[in-house]
Amino acid sequence: MTSRSQETSSVEKDISATSVDVLIVGGGMAGGLLAALLADTGLSVLLIDAASEPEMPQGDAHARVSAITEASFNMLNNAGAWSRLPAQRLAPYQSMDVWDADGNGRVTFDAASVLASELGWIVENNAITAALYQACVARNFDWRCGVRIESLVRENASDESHAWRATLTTGERYLATLLVGADGARSMVRSHAGIAAAPKDSGHMAIVATVACELPHKACARQRFMETGPVAMLPLFGDQHQFSLVWSAPPQMVEELMALDSAAFSHALTQATEEVLGACTVMGRRAAFPIQTLHASQYVGDGVALIGDAAHVVHPLAGQGINLGFLDAAVLAEEILAARKKGLGLTETSVLARYQRRRRGHNALMLNALNGIKSIFEQRDPGLRFLRNAGMRLVNRMPLAKSLFATEALGRNGDLPASARSCGK
Ligand SMILES: Cc1cc2nc3c(=O)[nH]c(=O)nc-3n(C[C@H](O)[C@H](O)[C@H](O)COP(=O)(O)OP(=O)(O)OC[C@H]3O[C@@H](n4cnc5c(N)ncnc54)[C@H](O)[C@@H]3O)c2cc1C
Repeated sequence: MTSRSQETSSVEKDISATSVDVLIVGGGMAGGLLAALLADTGLSVLLIDAASEPEMPQGDAHARVSAITEASFNMLNNAGAWSRLPAQRLAPYQSMDVWDADGNGRVTFDAASVLASELGWIVENNAITAALYQACVARNFDWRCGVRIESLVRENASDESHAWRATLTTGERYLATLLVGADGARSMVRSHAGIAAAPKDSGHMAIVATVACELPHKACARQRFMETGPVAMLPLFGDQHQFSLVWSAPPQMVEELMALDSAAFSHALTQATEEVLGACTVMGRRAAFPIQTLHASQYVGDGVALIGDAAHVVHPLAGQGINLGFLDAAVLAEEILAARKKGLGLTETSVLARYQRRRRGHNALMLNALNGIKSIFEQRDPGLRFLRNAGMRLVNRMPLAKSLFATEALGRNGDLPASARSCGK
């Protein structure tokens, strides 16, 4: 067990390196939220990211978007980032419509059923990162862009005075009490900490694109489940005639769809969406991503914590990935600040164990639930298909079940950190 003062004095022994309480590797949405929640708290925190300076998008919508829950809205707001998102680029959605391509099973639910004004918002990923960056910079937080780790060594791991020694590609050296891996699915922090995480092939790739549609989306997030995978239409900002596409399908089918020209792809999409939004016209470039899932065997190690995709990658079919990552960041910030208040060391076993306890089980449940949903819709057996459709129709007639779906979509369930429960600062 180490106290904070012991940790600090060990760090001060090395005069050629700068000491920090927390070094966050990765300035994506998860790392950015952790940084913004720790800015101005009296801790010395450094964030480094390999990418260039985040910029607020302008013009056409970017193809990578996220469905943001109410809980995530609260966390971004408490971190000082939400107000920096241009209101005209936010797309609040009030309802969800999910249906089975192979039958008449359908579930629809809306925000009004739980007395909310919206179920969530569709927001471009790069807008969120830029807002978090701006919120950090406004508070003189040290967020370094275009920088990687050259080497990472655990110092004095055998006694009580230990720290992570990081040499950056700029040549600067740091001694960090707590190292946070927010560096995505291929986390180098995770591998340096010796934490296992075997990626699993989901059997799907996802095509993303911005699409113009003939009919207004009416602020409804739609998803049609086919045997080959789901096609999601996420409503975008503007005049209600654009949506963000996430079309998951086996690699061979994705390859074929990507090989089509824009007109042929748009036609295939119009068919795949049952013309629920009329004719679809793909705008700009399409991109395809392999979908792998993973779950780190541990979220914490010796002086290390993992958050976001570095800890878990889920199938995008329910739009939960970064909502889970934000909860990781906010719970870790809460545990770090609580430890400090009690005079405990940041890397004390009980502190990191509490973080892991609060997040790993919740994320495991979501991973399993999403794998379950995916396999239910892949069933070819006629009896199982009948049961699936009958189940959906039954749920759709049960107001209580539908309000449970709405509560889940809002992200109100689970052991929420204070910053996710209310938006007031
Ligand atoms: C098609 C698709 C649709 C999705 N839709 C949704 C959705 O609707 N809702 C939702 O909640 N989630 C969604 N997700 C998931 C979501 O996009 C991810 O969970 C999220 O982007 C992960 O954020 P992160 O910050 O953890 O990691 P990343 O976004 O991977 O960020 C990692 C950061 O670390 C940096 N980095 C990496 N290595 C280093 C290094 N060695 N040194 C320095 N910096 C480094 C990178 O530059 C990057 O900025 C979707 C995913 C996909 C594929």
